[in-house]
Amino acid sequence: MAVYYKSRRVMPFMNLKPLHILVVGGGIAGIMLALLSERRAFKVTLIEKSKEWRPVVGAITLTLNGVRLLKEIGLFPAIEARSNEIRNINIADEQGEILSSFNLDGYADYAKTVTILRHDLHNILLSHLHTTAVHLDTTFSSIENDDNKVKVTLSNGHQQYYDAVVGCDGINSTVRKAVFGKRSNKYAGYSSWRFIANNLPQPHSDTITEMWGNGKRFGIVPVSENSVHCFASVNTTKNYVAYSNISIAAFKNLFTDFGGPVPGIMASLEEGHELMYNDLEDVPLQKYHKGRVILMGDAAHGMTPNLTQGAALAIEDAFLLVNKLTHTSKVEKDLAAFHLERSKRVFAVQRKSNLLGRIGQLKTPALCGLRNFCWKNIPDKWIQNDLKNLLVSR
Ligand SMILES: Cc1cc2nc3c(=O)[nH]c(=O)nc-3n(C[C@H](O)[C@H](O)[C@H](O)COP(=O)(O)OP(=O)(O)OC[C@H]3O[C@@H](n4cnc5c(N)ncnc54)[C@H](O)[C@@H]3O)c2cc1C
Repeated sequence: MAVYYKSRRVMPFMNLKPLHILVVGGGIAGIMLALLSERRAFKVTLIEKSKEWRPVVGAITLTLNGVRLLKEIGLFPAIEARSNEIRNINIADEQGEILSSFNLDGYADYAKTVTILRHDLHNILLSHLHTTAVHLDTTFSSIENDDNKVKVTLSNGHQQYYDAVVGCDGINSTVRKAVFGKRSNKYAGYSSWRFIANNLPQPHSDTITEMWGNGKRFGIVPVSENSVHCFASVNTTKNYVAYSNISIAAFKNLFTDFGGPVPGIMASLEEGHELMYNDLEDVPLQKYHKGRVILMGDAAHGMTPNLTQGAALAIEDAFLLVNKLTHTSKVEKDLAAFHLERSKRVFAVQRKSNLLGRIGQLKTPALCGLRNFCWKNIPDKWIQNDLKNLLVSR
């Protein structure tokens, strides 16, 4: 993979009018793109449909491929100060017996892997926006590719022309729908709850543990001295109301067959504890751009979170896209060049994440036994090599 961001002391089209881009959506992808575009002296407008920057709930793991890029632009110290370093990733069975262990110390010179509360990450990224015109409580009603501009009608009725529009509006992107027509996301066959548990003893505060049961998984991600971010997934159908509105008691009942640290974590939950529930899906889009409109982050390639790559890939997208964009007369070519360079890696990560999820969610006891046996006996080197290819840019 190429190194994406190179600071350009002399920009090729510096004497010309700067590119004016519209970023739709103020998640990690949109804010990163705005932030990097400012540094290229582009004119940026960002619209976000939420009325205010709401606290983003839960935590997120930033893997070292994303962290390396954040380091490159000087943002990492602020993030590091609010985050917890992860040094090991363990896969275990449902009783906590370790099947495989991946140590990250060998990458320390390259970059760290950290876990951070989502609202902390969001606030840090936002605090680095300077010249972007941010419009909250705003979306669009139409987007039309013109000959050499994109005509956008905003929800407040204003019409504006932009050199390029970037849809960073998440896995259910309305930019995608407006430009490519309605296509369904591909449900992975399982859904997941996320929650933060506080006041827990953390004997391994630098270790993520994912426990594989029969048609269920439970993950424990340390966030700070005494709090953990947990995810718990079960095989089910999409939009299963009994799960999206589950009580804490019913949720606990689903995981009584898990041992290790799980009973202690479950015991800390009381009725009313906040659980976030998501159907897990892939966005099966083959092309990210049409004319002067392009998609980025989850809008382009939303995927199952089994490799915790969503944020890092959104950051990689932003670096590459900003590096590819040159001049208003070349936008379409630049977007095509972005897609060409980007899609191979992203499709591969999406497929790998989906496969890992299917393995982790196996349900038949005999198959689960075989899976655990094989996973325990896979040479560590294989897993190390695979993850190295995923995480370390060349
Ligand atoms: C259960 C789960 C766990 C995960 N864990 C991790 C993890 O540990 N590590 C990791 O890297 N990734 C993880 N991910 C994935 C990660 O959350 C996403 O990949 C990442 O947040 C994508 O960022 P984004 O900016 O593309 O989209 P989003 O974060 O969805 O942001 C989209 C933004 O666009 C706004 N918007 C939407 N529609 C419009 C519109 N029409 N007009 C204007 N604004 C609009 C939304 O309000 C939102 O602010 C996980 C995902 C799930 C479901």
